[in-house]
Amino acid sequence: MIMDLWYTEKHSDNAGITMKTTQTLFSGKSKYQQLDIVETLEFGRMMLLDGLVMVTERDEFIYHDMIVHPALFTHPNPKKVLVIGGGDGGTIREIMKHERVEHAVLCEIDSLVIEKSIDLLPSMACEIDGNNPRVTLHVDDGLAYIREHQNEFDIILVDSTDPIGPAVGLFEENFYQLVFSALKDDGIMIAQSESPFYHAEIQKSMYRNLRAVFPIVEMYQAFIPTYPSGFWSFAFASKTYHPIRDFDQNRAASRKFHTRYYNEDLHRGAFMLPTFARENIAE
Ligand code: SAM
Repeated sequence: MIMDLWYTEKHSDNAGITMKTTQTLFSGKSKYQQLDIVETLEFGRMMLLDGLVMVTERDEFIYHDMIVHPALFTHPNPKKVLVIGGGDGGTIREIMKHERVEHAVLCEIDSLVIEKSIDLLPSMACEIDGNNPRVTLHVDDGLAYIREHQNEFDIILVDSTDPIGPAVGLFEENFYQLVFSALKDDGIMIAQSESPFYHAEIQKSMYRNLRAVFPIVEMYQAFIPTYPSGFWSFAFASKTYHPIRDFDQNRAASRKFHTRYYNEDLHRGAFMLPTFARENIAE
């Protein structure tokens, strides 16, 4: 009798997601976390860190479109971009579609994530395999790296795990202060900001911390089926540009590359939030 194997992630004590898996492609522990890459029938290959869903082949396009393109189409001319975390490579892959970006830096704390993404998730890690001269890889704690860089980046994308383990510091005010000083005068920071449905408390403190540092702070949403509740969010924190007021729709509409989730109309729509999500972060 062949036993069905199901991976389950609990999103609260009493609810979660479950998916039928066919095999484990890698399972190992780095200095920082447990890394598993499994084959699932519904979502293709999936990366787990400490048992939590990070990315799946089937729905990663949504997250990577939405952590990258709203900022890169709001900023008039982003040339240098920093990604903190993002060891699967999907965020760098989307940044590279913007030909005017001259240099993207990835600062990922765990080299095992990069290594296994290149090996087993090539559709995501295609631009972090060392062959793209516009990409620089750093294996380092983003908190340490950001201290060494002032007034250097047009955009900083915080593509981290949830505020547990090595990413705890990436949700605190002093980190946002460091990000602010590492950005140029018209810089923009994006950070994944959890689920408005399950994580109201995390959002409340995260957005309070962001507002203590940045003059413009907005939340935008995306539908990500494998994340808790499927209703996900990102923080848009900016020194001068507003994501709707300063958005050049024609520039986004005339982009030379296809995006399966982001588009020039959805850009504005993503910032229209349900009332309860607005209330999570109300001042
Ligand atoms: N899209 C996923 C999400 O929203 O949860 C994130 C994917 S990416 C794999 C998250 C990465 O953040 C992991 O590879 C982890 O090692 C990295 N990370 C966690 N804390 C970090 C830190 N302090 N500095 C740099 N990278 C960090």
